[in-house]
Amino acid sequence: MTIPYGRQEITAADIKAVVEVLQSDYLTQGPMVPVFERAVAEYCGVATATAVNSATSALHIACMALGVGIGDLVWTSPITFVASANCARYCGADVDFVDIDPKTYNMSADRLAEKLEVAQKSGRLPKVVIPVHLAGQSCDMKAIGALAKQYGFKIIEDASHAIGAKYLGEPVGSCRFSDIAVFSFHPVKIVTTGEGGVAVTNDSQLHMLMERLRSHGVTRDAEQLTKPSEGVWYYEQLELGFNYRMTDIYAALGASQMDRLDEYVERRQQLAHQYDLLFANKPIKTPWQHPDVYSSFHLYIVRPDFNAMKTKQREVFERLRANGVLANLHYIPVYRQPYYAAMGFDSRNFPEAEKYYSEAISLPMYPLLTDGQQIEVVQKLMTPLGHQTIF
Ligand SMILES: *Cc1c(COP(=O)(O)O)cnc(C)c1O
Repeated sequence: MTIPYGRQEITAADIKAVVEVLQSDYLTQGPMVPVFERAVAEYCGVATATAVNSATSALHIACMALGVGIGDLVWTSPITFVASANCARYCGADVDFVDIDPKTYNMSADRLAEKLEVAQKSGRLPKVVIPVHLAGQSCDMKAIGALAKQYGFKIIEDASHAIGAKYLGEPVGSCRFSDIAVFSFHPVKIVTTGEGGVAVTNDSQLHMLMERLRSHGVTRDAEQLTKPSEGVWYYEQLELGFNYRMTDIYAALGASQMDRLDEYVERRQQLAHQYDLLFANKPIKTPWQHPDVYSSFHLYIVRPDFNAMKTKQREVFERLRANGVLANLHYIPVYRQPYYAAMGFDSRNFPEAEKYYSEAISLPMYPLLTDGQQIEVVQKLMTPLGHQTIF
């Protein structure tokens, strides 16, 4: 049996919730979408939530709501999924990357401060910065938030990995240090809707705009109409929006899954702690945790010392795969993707991201992973050391 790096759990309660929607009058954007939105907003302690069909869509409408357009600059981390950068490109903006912190692998607030100082001198400051909470560990939002005030940029947190995580004792998604935060509900993430995303914000104007953008830019709200209503059929399109709506089927699944969010994150924390113990005194760098964070541990990323283990990153991956452990690498630095490389990025500007990419391995991490499977994963990983029986 193979062990994936991540997978969902679907319970009888989830199935019941979905079946109820299928037997109801509304399959899309009915009563379950606002129920799911409220569950997410209340969990995060944030004023509003807008559910859409993916985090990619949420990132796109978040950029649009913040006015990102042609000629603007958006900065993000190179160690992320391509969607964190693509959202800016959809708006016609240029993308640049800020190198990562060598301990957390998140966007480095120090490198950001340096880059901003240089950008100010050349008059090319970013309009929006998108920090990504890699693996579920929050970025240094206090420092990034202070820089946003100093330099006048907006912040979208790509919290796709981080629902259920905490920062300075508050839920990630409270938007204390940001304008908008985005969550993903893809099946490998912490909780799932099948496909889905949510954008949260405390700004009612941004919320209203994102609600319109997910549905063609159309509104029926009397407050938002620019002309008197011409009848009960009347609606107005105010912007060029999209069909990014979430279905009620997905929302019902999401609302049901939210009930188990804390349980899932606790199990992920427990698995992370067990991995830490299993790797103690081994030439394997385990995920360092900043004291300000409580990670949702979407991923458990290790950096083996391949020299000490007399092996290579590629060999370890091949060995794990051959033994049914579907380890993965999150992520190939985005500037290395042919689409972005064609824009002229120089990997020498991102030494920490390069080093990370040459060492990182994401090990299986999901609530249904058993303690026994976890030990098996560690044994398979350590085999190159020649310690067949390390326990
Ligand atoms: C998964 C992911 C996304 C995209 O999420 P979708 O819901 O699949 O569109 C964006 N950013 C990061 C960091 C992700 O991990």
